[in-house]
Amino acid sequence: MGSPALALARTAGRLSRRLGRGGGTSLPGKILLRLQPDAVGDLGAGLPRGAGIISATNGKTTTSRLAAAALRAEGWPLVANPAGANLMSGVATALVEGVTRRPSPVAALFEVDEAALVEVARQLRPRVVVLMNLFRDQLDRYGELDRLVDDWVRMIDGLDVGTRLVLNADDPAVASLARRGDDVVFFGVDDTAAALPGLPHAADSTRCWNCSAALDYSAVLVGHLGHWACPDCGLRRPEPDVRATSVTLHGATGIAVRVDTPSGAVEVEVPLPGLHNAYNVTAAVATAAAFGVRLERIGPALRGARAAFGRAERITVDGREVVMLLAKNPAGANETVRTILLDPSPLDVLVSLNDRTADGNDVSWVWDVDFEPLRGRLASLTVTGDRAYDLALRFRYGGFPGELVQVIPDPRRALDAALARGDRRAPLYVLPTYTAMIELREILVRRGAAERFWRDG
Ligand SMILES: [Zn+2]
Repeated sequence: MGSPALALARTAGRLSRRLGRGGGTSLPGKILLRLQPDAVGDLGAGLPRGAGIISATNGKTTTSRLAAAALRAEGWPLVANPAGANLMSGVATALVEGVTRRPSPVAALFEVDEAALVEVARQLRPRVVVLMNLFRDQLDRYGELDRLVDDWVRMIDGLDVGTRLVLNADDPAVASLARRGDDVVFFGVDDTAAALPGLPHAADSTRCWNCSAALDYSAVLVGHLGHWACPDCGLRRPEPDVRATSVTLHGATGIAVRVDTPSGAVEVEVPLPGLHNAYNVTAAVATAAAFGVRLERIGPALRGARAAFGRAERITVDGREVVMLLAKNPAGANETVRTILLDPSPLDVLVSLNDRTADGNDVSWVWDVDFEPLRGRLASLTVTGDRAYDLALRFRYGGFPGELVQVIPDPRRALDAALARGDRRAPLYVLPTYTAMIELREILVRRGAAERFWRDG
């Protein structure tokens, strides 16, 4: 391919890193795409085992990391994008950097933003496409769910024959994307022991995508994910090919999952807590298997995987454990609340709400989060961020006692105050939006408590 364009893009990446501008995670790709708009397709076509893309509202970062660990365990040098660099420019940058690596990468695996998916798929021509879930997220940025679903239908229409689709059987919108003749692998969670008593009040996608009737659920597992059926037209949850047949929740510290596949079962234990991570594990197994990774490689690889940046990441600060659990939309925040409630001790919690571009400027979504189950379980609650007072109001209306709630808009001071409250032997649970997570992590990095960038593979 056009090596002058590639060389220039790589030089830009080195320069950008030297100048300390954002780690160079998207600039080289931007330059390359400007000089050679079809570069992603060219670079992707050079990978003998092809490329895979993973998209979802929630869980794509964690799932991509888990699946990437499995592909690497097969001995395949891999191109992957760092968390957050999940637009076309991030994909292009990762491919640029992959070109010079030795041994040469044989496959690529990218997490891709829901709204960027159509364009990335069109250019990259992936061999495997993994679609996990669609929740309402940043409505001011993405618009309604229906529009995203329409985009994804178009994306699937444009895929090459033989592209393998890995779809979540438990998400009615995602499962309904499969058409006759597609090469589809469905995954899902069969174990209903940890099911919710009913749909959360802010559940997003509970109407039949064929006839619009209200769906019946025999089990609700995470948000609108579960065992669903349409009472009118008969559309129902497809039987998963890759399924979590047993999920054991180890409090707020991790899970053990048995995943059954057509070629056998794999037992996976990960330091990622909560039922939503059973979906991430099952999707990762399905993804690795779709690439042809052997089952005996997948289990050990996933067991050794670490939490992704800010997703159940555990950091020790001045002798106290901080557990960072990204909470950026109602469905994700509900799962975070549900997960920390698995810890039987009185809870110290810091919630941080920002309203910057990457968070979405509309913070009304916090009213759709079911924070109420935390009432009576908290030792302390500190709220911070650009919109700390909106959070304070949310908790006041939720019936949380005023003397429990501490409002400190400055994140550095809020973190110190929260660390000083409660039992120091117990963890401090931090629930931040995206930019709030980056900000709090940066504070911890400067104190030497956290690593700045991930070193993968
Ligand atoms: Zn129907």
